[in-house]
Amino acid sequence: MINSIKLSAGFRRTFVREVILPLLAILLLTFAGAGVGLYWGSAVTNSGAREQQQRMIEASFTQSLNEHLRQLRSLTRWTPLAEQLSATPDREWLDRNTGGWLYEMFRHPLVVLLDDSDRRVAVWRNGQSVADRHVDPALERLLQGPLVRRRAEAADARERADFVRIGQRVAALAVGEIASAAGRWRLVSITFLDDGYLRSLSERSQLRQLLFSADAPPSDRQSWYALTSRQGDRLGYVSWDADKPGGQMLHTLGPFTLLSVALITLLCLFMVRRIWTSSLSLSQSLLKLEASEAQAQHLAFHDVLTGLPNRALVDDRLTQALAAAVRHDQRVALLLDLDRFKNINDTYGHHAGDALIIEVARRLSEMVRASDTVGRLGGDEFIIVLPDAGTLDAVQALAKRIISRLSEPYLLAENELWVGVSIGLTLAPADGLDRQELMRKADIALYEAKNNGRGQYRQFEQAMDESLRSRQQMAADLRQALVNFAGLAVWYQPLMEISGQRVVGLEALLRWQHPVRGSVSPADFIAIAEETGLIIPLGEWVLREACRTAIALPQVIVAVNVSPVQFRTAGVVDRIIEIVQQEGADPQRMELEITEGVLIEDEHAARDSIVALRAAGFRIALDDFGTGYSSLNYLSSFPVDKIKIDRSFTQSLGVAQNSAAIVESVVRLGHAMGLTVTAEGVETECQKNALADAGCNQLQGYLFSQAVPLSEILKMV
Ligand code: C2E
Ligand code: CA
Ligand code: CA
Repeated sequence: MINSIKLSAGFRRTFVREVILPLLAILLLTFAGAGVGLYWGSAVTNSGAREQQQRMIEASFTQSLNEHLRQLRSLTRWTPLAEQLSATPDREWLDRNTGGWLYEMFRHPLVVLLDDSDRRVAVWRNGQSVADRHVDPALERLLQGPLVRRRAEAADARERADFVRIGQRVAALAVGEIASAAGRWRLVSITFLDDGYLRSLSERSQLRQLLFSADAPPSDRQSWYALTSRQGDRLGYVSWDADKPGGQMLHTLGPFTLLSVALITLLCLFMVRRIWTSSLSLSQSLLKLEASEAQAQHLAFHDVLTGLPNRALVDDRLTQALAAAVRHDQRVALLLDLDRFKNINDTYGHHAGDALIIEVARRLSEMVRASDTVGRLGGDEFIIVLPDAGTLDAVQALAKRIISRLSEPYLLAENELWVGVSIGLTLAPADGLDRQELMRKADIALYEAKNNGRGQYRQFEQAMDESLRSRQQMAADLRQALVNFAGLAVWYQPLMEISGQRVVGLEALLRWQHPVRGSVSPADFIAIAEETGLIIPLGEWVLREACRTAIALPQVIVAVNVSPVQFRTAGVVDRIIEIVQQEGADPQRMELEITEGVLIEDEHAARDSIVALRAAGFRIALDDFGTGYSSLNYLSSFPVDKIKIDRSFTQSLGVAQNSAAIVESVVRLGHAMGLTVTAEGVETECQKNALADAGCNQLQGYLFSQAVPLSEILKMV
């Protein structure tokens, strides 16, 4: 949760920096560019239009002046007028055809006729002759001025026109010479720049709202033209309503531009949203991928149940520690294996087993330093790698602490459980610097610890390795022997009636003649057969042999040793019954010897099997009574037929104090329970007598006979 918040804050910052800001910059630049372009375009268009309008008005003024002159020319070049002026002019004719005609035709409001000596011959105002030929002083000055009085020799200069100021008014003035017999007369026509003039100018120039002002153009108008006479006098200003195509352009394009800006912005927002969601989900899935990679990484190197490093990681750590061990002192690996863990699994279920393993992992982790590695190799097997173990004493102290700590009760699901631990210990570099070598040796040491009664630690010794090697060789040889039972034989040791005179039973004892080693003691190879599981076919073979002997010797009972490994195998009861049936023997004459260990390992199953076997007719003997856990309590809960007092007891008679009393009490208790009591290992008369005095029922030992081949027994019986 916190992670995802962190992610989105960081992601948002990055997103704003990498996507939003550049996009905003692009948008702003684009819009600014478009705006400036539009504005600039319209300004350029406007100023272009203004220049054109200026040129237009200028041309219109020139044109109107030329037209004025042309209109005047229609009179000055009119021969009848020149002829009329040559003589004394007829006033009436003159009025009608000069001032009158110009006014009628062209609306020239003021026309003046001057003779060769610049005398005013006639003045017409609005087509009417002014009787006293009076003009106002401003015009008077103009008529005396060079524009009017100049006499030009060149033919094309004989008529001229210009804009002039007359008092407060501005007018167009045209002068034309009339060549007559009476000299060079001049006709002067004046048209004021009044509304009518401006109207026709406006028509000609296509400019709207023309306005003339004498001093300065009206401040609210940007388009104006300064009217100047040909002499260079500034006469006034003509202004107009400017045609602004740029503005129009802006007006037309503006809404479209705004619309596209809005559209582009929307589109960008939409895109940003899309990019945001897709890159968010991308970065989230990347993060998830990372997390699941980390998880996979963790899973690859850790045990799922306990979270401890698994074999792969332990191997790695051990390799590192060993690499360092080359330079420094000792590195230690402790291999731990829980004792009788399988029982807990079988009795209380896998959940309890798992909970126990987790608790063991927790206790172990608490007891080591951070630099040490506690790993789980699988099942109930753990390992501790101490990369800097210190003294051997310290390591041994740790091993002891672990044993006592793990032996403390476990409270799981309201059950108080106990479990032990065995530890194998190897030291580097003393025991080697190769990881696999070291692990193998730790394994051997662990095996030794287990073999020596569990709940203890063993440090690896070279001798262990050798015994292991020979054990492995022996296992291979035994497997080979089992193919056709070559070298294997069942010998029998008699069980005597207490008097020692009569054979009442035989104990079948396995013998192995090894091709190289010669005769191998069962004490050595039975354990190997148990470890390798070979004890099952071996035990079954002995049982078959014993059955045949029982059939051959109907007067004795034949006892067969059943290994705890065999006894714990599923379906063992059915298997034994089946074999005996197959051999055609009577179960009533067969005795099965089991050890107390069988009972302790799994009470319920053991009791069930014993009950079933007894129901099938077999007799059950409790072998090696008095060693190990043996307590008389067990006897009450297991329905056996016989106890065999272990030979260590027999042989302590007369040596250890109280031994006779102990044997006596065992015998008494056995009898009280209705059991037969046999004593093993009777070697002397003295022992025989003591056992007889204690009340034993049967005796077995070298005093009577060792285990011998069946042929020997046949002679004896
Ligand atoms: P066990 O069942 O206690 O067998 C008795 C052992 O004590 C035999 O050793 C026997 O030779 C020896 N013994 C008998 N009388 C005397 C005596 O007076 N003094 C001394 N010192 N020893 C005596 P063995 O044959 O070497 O067998 C050793 C163990 O091997 C047996 O102990 C039994 O646990 C196991 N074993 C032997 N044969 C078989 C077999 O066929 N199946 C199974 N599962 N175990 C067997
Ligand atoms: Ca026995
Ligand atoms: Ca025994």
